[in-house]
Amino acid sequence: KRAAALAGTSGPGTTRDGHHVALLANIGGVKDAEEAGALDLEGVGLFRTEFVFLSADKAPTVEEQTEIYRKVMAPFGDRRVVVRTLDAGADKPLAFADLGPEENPALGRRGLRLSAERPELLDAQLEALSIAAKETGADVRVMAPMVATVEEAAWFARRVRENGLPKGGVMIEVPAAALRSAHVLAEVEFGSIGTNDLAQYTMAADRMQGELSDLLDPWQPAVLDVVAAACEGAASTGRPMGVCGESAGDPLLALVLTGLGVSSLSMAPSKVPVVRLALSLHSLPECQGIAAAARAAATAREALEAVRDLARDEL
Ligand code: PEP
Ligand code: MG
Repeated sequence: KRAAALAGTSGPGTTRDGHHVALLANIGGVKDAEEAGALDLEGVGLFRTEFVFLSADKAPTVEEQTEIYRKVMAPFGDRRVVVRTLDAGADKPLAFADLGPEENPALGRRGLRLSAERPELLDAQLEALSIAAKETGADVRVMAPMVATVEEAAWFARRVRENGLPKGGVMIEVPAAALRSAHVLAEVEFGSIGTNDLAQYTMAADRMQGELSDLLDPWQPAVLDVVAAACEGAASTGRPMGVCGESAGDPLLALVLTGLGVSSLSMAPSKVPVVRLALSLHSLPECQGIAAAARAAATAREALEAVRDLARDEL
């Protein structure tokens, strides 16, 4: 039944009653971009730029970076390409951005915190992105990882503007930023929830430890509450909020996220068809009811079961 239903959908993500939710790809480099660019999806919601430089022993020049970004953007024509600036740290080490070992890498000088200590790395990256964006004509938007405060968001937004890029955003993956999203988003053009780190920091459970996977489950009611708070804050500012963590590719969670008000879902490209199908089978009010049922549950398992009961059985 699912296979037949899957074959029947294409195009932009829309609920049964016509509410648009953009379906986007998570990519990590040129090869991913070429593959995803050929698919029926609306662009890129997360380009993890640090993946491109994992083996670089010295900082890539503006020219070297421009060359890569051009190749990543070109397959998308005028579609959206959301680029995340370097998300490096002791947990994702880059040789040229090494600040030394840390006791708690997930809580350390990573993401935008590292960019603040090494602003020349951020500026080179933004300059290269700006050049590549102008050359390719892609709808390029840049966002910062690991933002916790309003000051960080404002600092990043200023550097984005100074480098001639039109749209700056922030990842919402630290609970502090989620809870204060109205204030944080007032400084930028958009937010994108990273549910992988948001679950890690909400549940105080290291995402590198497989034994803790039950705690890292995005169905955990506390994680859903923090996501909901982030969406409510975004709604109050009128700024769009997306999701680019793994949860966006789960068709049942995609319904919950849509009901909470997110306007884009970015995922592994292979997940796009089933998420598109899930949206097409449910109206926005149904998604809102599904989200409310998930949040009313006491446990992750009950949240999943409640949603399974309400969602169409093709899923
Ligand atoms: C996230 O944290 O959810 C996310 C999308 O970023 P990454 O998985 O690269 O940390
Ligand atoms: Mg993250």
